Amino acid sequence: MRKPIIAGNWKMFKHLSDAVEFVEAVKSSIPNKEKVDSVICAPALFLPTLVEQAKGSNLAIGAQTMHFEKEGAFTGEVSPSQLSDIAVSYVVLGHSERREYYNETDAAVNKKTQAAFEYNLTPIVCVGETLEEREAGNTVAKVAGQVRAALEGLSTEQVKQTVIAYEPIWAIGTGKTATAEDANEVCGAVRATVQEIAGPDAAAAIRIQYGGSVKPENIVELLSMEHIDGALVGGASLQSDSYLRLLEAG
Ligand code: PEP
Repeated sequence: MRKPIIAGNWKMFKHLSDAVEFVEAVKSSIPNKEKVDSVICAPALFLPTLVEQAKGSNLAIGAQTMHFEKEGAFTGEVSPSQLSDIAVSYVVLGHSERREYYNETDAAVNKKTQAAFEYNLTPIVCVGETLEEREAGNTVAKVAGQVRAALEGLSTEQVKQTVIAYEPIWAIGTGKTATAEDANEVCGAVRATVQEIAGPDAAAAIRIQYGGSVKPENIVELLSMEHIDGALVGGASLQSDSYLRLLEAG
């Protein structure tokens, strides 16, 4: 049995006081870690405060991106070593917004995924197709290619610990969710790709999230699907009551 993982992605929303208020409101109501992994991926600026605040609770704090180098002349960037040093536990890599607006390539995502393991961070690697790619019948080819590129060079153990977030780009922030069946089909293709790369044990262990307009009203059906082990959630993770309702589905 794979443990569900539900991660909120706050993107560039909230101010520090809102973030602190949110964590205060949810932290004593987060389900047990044995049942579901509950994560909030916050703006880098808030991370030290939120990590301290969430200590001793079942809420884990993640970053939304990072560089792959330990340190260096990379103005404005945050390194894996810096995240690890303040006890951040997850990092989102290759989000479609990073790929589109910040030229995050498959090669960079691979380096970052490797760096995450070097510094004890669990990577949540995002993959997904555009509407044009879906309509041209290229969804599986696109997503499988991204998965292969991201996981290249990882050990079987590292592949097992990686989280893949399948996020069709046309469903992110649009209110359009893939049907549970369509999402499951692509997540199944991700699992089959992992099996080709790293074998059946890794394929059985790796957790695959769906992301794209997930909300309390549709998460139960999505999580009931064979290959969907959790959700990466933007908009519906911003309000504490809605976030807690998402976790209840886990
Ligand atoms: C996301 O931020 O990765 C996302 C899926 O956003 P939303 O849930 O708002 O579509």
